[in-house]
Amino acid sequence: LAEAKTRQVVKPKIFGSLLAEVIRKDICSGCGACVSVCPVGVVTMKSVPGKDEQPTLIGKCILCEYCYNQCPWTEPKPSEVDVFGRSRYEKEELGVVLASYSARSKKEEILKVASDGGVVTSLLVYMFENGFIDCAVVSCLSKEEPLKPKPKVVLSPEELLECAGTRYTVSPTLIGLGSAVDEYGKERVAVVGTPCQIRAIRKMQYSSHGALKYGSKVFLAIGLFCMESFYYDKLIKEYLPQKTDLGKVSRFSIRKGRFIVETEGKRVVDVHLDEVRPYVRGSCHICTDFTSELADVSVGSVGSPDGWSTVLLRTEKAKRIFEDAVNTGYIECKPLDQVKPGKVSVAKLSNLKKEKSSHPTKA
Ligand SMILES: Cc1cc2nc3c(=O)[nH]c(=O)nc-3n(C[C@H](O)[C@H](O)[C@H](O)COP(=O)(O)OP(=O)(O)OC[C@H]3O[C@@H](n4cnc5c(N)ncnc54)[C@H](O)[C@@H]3O)c2cc1C
Ligand code: SF4
Ligand code: SF4
Ligand code: SF4
Repeated sequence: LAEAKTRQVVKPKIFGSLLAEVIRKDICSGCGACVSVCPVGVVTMKSVPGKDEQPTLIGKCILCEYCYNQCPWTEPKPSEVDVFGRSRYEKEELGVVLASYSARSKKEEILKVASDGGVVTSLLVYMFENGFIDCAVVSCLSKEEPLKPKPKVVLSPEELLECAGTRYTVSPTLIGLGSAVDEYGKERVAVVGTPCQIRAIRKMQYSSHGALKYGSKVFLAIGLFCMESFYYDKLIKEYLPQKTDLGKVSRFSIRKGRFIVETEGKRVVDVHLDEVRPYVRGSCHICTDFTSELADVSVGSVGSPDGWSTVLLRTEKAKRIFEDAVNTGYIECKPLDQVKPGKVSVAKLSNLKKEKSSHPTKA
């Protein structure tokens, strides 16, 4: 009896655990992984006033623990050893990096719509046109709600142009990965995501409870740099209409500490980031990953001149694909150490994010 009393009862980690440890603690980053992996489809995104959409249980849970175990905020976290076969060397302050460049697209139509150098869109176009992928999962704009990002399963390079650019509110992109596999039966998928979304993909691939059904179909994980993202309800529905007509917004950017919104080439918002900081999502306050440290390739604007992208190649596969895209005329590049401000400014922001993260469950 004494032995029985001391024996630990291991409770399953099911949706209720996700609710208690992540969603109610306001550290859900809305990646959509829990929605896409639920085998009985009982997790969905539902609107919660002031908090955008949150995962919600809408049916009978079969206690499989999948939702909990793909979440980027639950333990165990995927590691560099899982993904790259080794930890970073001491000098690799941005994580495992095999080569780094400042790069931009050589396609005019991509440069016109891209956030920075259009490297993300160009890599996807290159992979489509050269048979590496049969699908890309990206974020696009909703047709129903103004400036609202939503996942998109892209089946041809032509569709990519309308998805280029940056939206600073969350796209539950991994719902798109579920759809690419379950509805479209795709086998070689490139996914573009923020660092938290890339972490969920790595959990699908490497965790002992990973949803391999989806993770194994990811051919390349393209990670974006990300300092923070904002609640759609607060930034887009409350703040922005006081400044401009949502219907006319053509571009968002964050540069040198300023939040900028353009309509038809004119800056209608150009404010210090502090003005919009109250709208930052809860998860972003505990997040320590600026450069998508577990991606195959990471892309951001910091470190490169305007109109160019900083590219960190972390796996041999990504390096080969990037270099082929350069050699075949999709992308032009210079080594990152030959441009200003270069790697120093990326490292500075990466360190800043790690330092300012403020939660015991830092990730
Ligand atoms: C929320 C957020 C915060 C960012 N913060 C920084 C930062 O602080 N510093 C920095 O250097 N770079 C940041 N970036 C990255 C930067 O804005 C560009 O995405 C990156 O430089 C790639 O530019 P590109 O011209 O190569 O991409 P493009 O060719 O324009 O392609 C952009 C890709 O990003 C995808 N995308 C757009 N919005 C989202 C979203 N909300 N969620 C997921 N995917 C999306 C699109 O679907 C597209 O595939 C951030 C990006 C996001 C989404
Ligand atoms: S069935 Fe599995 S994935 Fe779906 S809610 Fe329950 S534990 Fe989560
Ligand atoms: S972060 Fe992603 S997996 Fe975790 S609860 Fe939120 S939507 Fe689900
Ligand atoms: S700051 Fe972190 S949690 Fe927030 S969107 Fe970016 S990667 Fe996700």
